[in-house]
Amino acid sequence: MGIVVQKYGGSSVADAAGIKRVAQRIVNTKKAGHQVVVVVSAMGDTTDDLIDLANEVSPLPPARELDMLLTAGERMSMAVLAMAIHDLGHEARSFTGSQAGVITDAEHGKAKIIDVTPGRIQTAIDEGAIAIVAGFQGVSQTTKDITTLGRGGSDTTAVALAVALRADVCEIYSDVDGIFTADPRIEPRARKVPRISYEETLEMAAQGAKILHLRCVEYARRYDMPIHVRSSFSEKEGTWVVKSADVAGVAQEGANTMEAAIITGVAHDRSQAKITVVGVPDKPGEAAAIFRAVAEAQINIDMIVQNVSAAATSLTDISFTLPAGEGQTAMTALSRLQETVGFDSLQYDDSVGKVSVVGAGMSSSPGISARFFEALSEAGVNIEMISTSEIRVSVVVAETQVEAAVNAAHAAFDLGSDEIEAVVYGGTGR
Ligand code: ASP
Ligand code: MG
Repeated sequence: MGIVVQKYGGSSVADAAGIKRVAQRIVNTKKAGHQVVVVVSAMGDTTDDLIDLANEVSPLPPARELDMLLTAGERMSMAVLAMAIHDLGHEARSFTGSQAGVITDAEHGKAKIIDVTPGRIQTAIDEGAIAIVAGFQGVSQTTKDITTLGRGGSDTTAVALAVALRADVCEIYSDVDGIFTADPRIEPRARKVPRISYEETLEMAAQGAKILHLRCVEYARRYDMPIHVRSSFSEKEGTWVVKSADVAGVAQEGANTMEAAIITGVAHDRSQAKITVVGVPDKPGEAAAIFRAVAEAQINIDMIVQNVSAAATSLTDISFTLPAGEGQTAMTALSRLQETVGFDSLQYDDSVGKVSVVGAGMSSSPGISARFFEALSEAGVNIEMISTSEIRVSVVVAETQVEAAVNAAHAAFDLGSDEIEAVVYGGTGR
């Protein structure tokens, strides 16, 4: 009898009917002979609604109080889910993150898990109950205050608990049937990927595919915890996220061409912006000064491109991308440098998007970039920036061309299925 950790996202528990449907599913897993630990997100758009409420009350809510407010969302869903399970004749006990032993640092709004001591959860399941845990929250080891792990953090709660309880698998339920070769909302021929490595999933998630919380995949990779991503609205087998050795060797169903194995998927991200520092003197230390200023503003940058300096002027342009939400902060930090660094001007563009092809097979397969760029050119998409890793090629394009770029890349690498596979069952996409 193994332990199964199941995590249900907000769209799966959006209303009373959803809660009852999920309760039945949990009971079925219990009846199949497993010990079941469930992690829940807040119902539907509750977290967004609570943030809106806070902002109506206060323009800058204190981080400690905002965390206290937001954790109420998961507290509601865990309690009603436990009630629904009781009505099906099974014992369920709900626990806050703190009660479940999720210990974090004191960084409100983006706390990191530093330890998990799930004694009460273990006792509950040993006594035959189903344990329900509020996702996305913990308690600070130092301040003893309630913390949140960052938006989408319930995935990380689930994996962390699965690791601490030595579960067989961490099942993550949402409103799509698994991880797809592209976002089914813009690529109708997207195909479900049966198995994908932690590394590829990390690249997909980092490049904007809204499949799993990045930190949850990092956690799973570190402890080799298999994740099964699937829909709570269907009984279909989803996508298994496993170590790369367990992907290779297993025939990818539906993939009968070599190409299909080289590229696993196409990710896109519309949340980026681009800053160009125009007319930077081409001498040592200038790029260092620019990026030091951005780093000190606590901004994570992504792609960087520096042009060859024009021979006549010895001036160069440096462009980089960053989350659009940080654009204002970065522009302010950089404009303070204008005098000392001596650049001409700053340009800001938030109507850009990033499109990436990801696949572990590309490191040993030449011509991936050529084929990707040819497809973009045939679709009339102009490339503004390029970056690569061992298993990814990304481009920045105009935001209006993101969809065309995804469709072109998807077709160029033969990722499409012949029939429509992707069903989006619920959610508001908020
Ligand atoms: N409810 C939180 C959010 O919406 C956490 C989660 O859903 O994982 O971000
Ligand atoms: Mg949510």
